[in-house]
Amino acid sequence: MANGSTESGGHASATFRFYAELNDFIAPERRGREFGCRCAHAATAKHMIEALGVPHTEVELVLVNGESVGFEYALRDGDRLAVYPQFEAFDVTPLLRVRERPLRETRFVADAHLGGLAHLLRMTGFDTLYDNGFRDDEIERLAAAEGRIVLTRDRELLKRRGITHGCYVRELRSDAQLREIFDRLDLFGSARPFTRCLSCNTPLHAIAKAQVADRLPPGVRERHERFAVCDGCARVFWEGSHWQRMRARVDALLAAASWRDVSEPLAQRE
Ligand SMILES: [Zn+2]
Repeated sequence: MANGSTESGGHASATFRFYAELNDFIAPERRGREFGCRCAHAATAKHMIEALGVPHTEVELVLVNGESVGFEYALRDGDRLAVYPQFEAFDVTPLLRVRERPLRETRFVADAHLGGLAHLLRMTGFDTLYDNGFRDDEIERLAAAEGRIVLTRDRELLKRRGITHGCYVRELRSDAQLREIFDRLDLFGSARPFTRCLSCNTPLHAIAKAQVADRLPPGVRERHERFAVCDGCARVFWEGSHWQRMRARVDALLAAASWRDVSEPLAQRE
């Protein structure tokens, strides 16, 4: 290995070490240790990190020879890279993050396999696009055009150029997936359960009983006073037995946050 100068042939060798859960993405023999690797001509940090298996969306910080760099850093012979996921216990504020963040609004586009998670995100109030017919290029286009975080269990999708923010979802069950995403993005304080249409993702708004009375089954008209309507699909909602079951499910899901300093405890509704 050369001692820090760029090889005239164009190929460089660099040393990599991946930290914490990023090791899940790389070959077993490379986990938790430094390893050397030949880099493609004019490779950037992002290019090599993804070539080694790690989607860039999962990376929060890259140090080259001890200094933080952006994804576009051009690798040089002899560079030593340390690649970190999001930190919880380590303040990286003084360091250059690999991407601007956060997106101004937390909104999502979920891939075709995550319908259950998309449903729960809408239930907790988050703008989440989902269609089981979405192709990868549509997801990429929606993410770029609308500033959406891509949710997927497909790491190749996360490597697409147009995707700047994404989460590789590790859990398999939708309830656990919701907690995983809430933990990773710290969403517990910003959940607004039952403010969004589960069918079409449009925000709901309250409506006077008189305005929807002719559209209600008689029993509902007698027992309920509060109603909401979706302008997207014209559905009317009330807090019936189905709503109460969903409410119990959401409360249980968000109870994991009870130890946190949540400014508006969700259990204190009504
Ligand atoms: Zn709707």
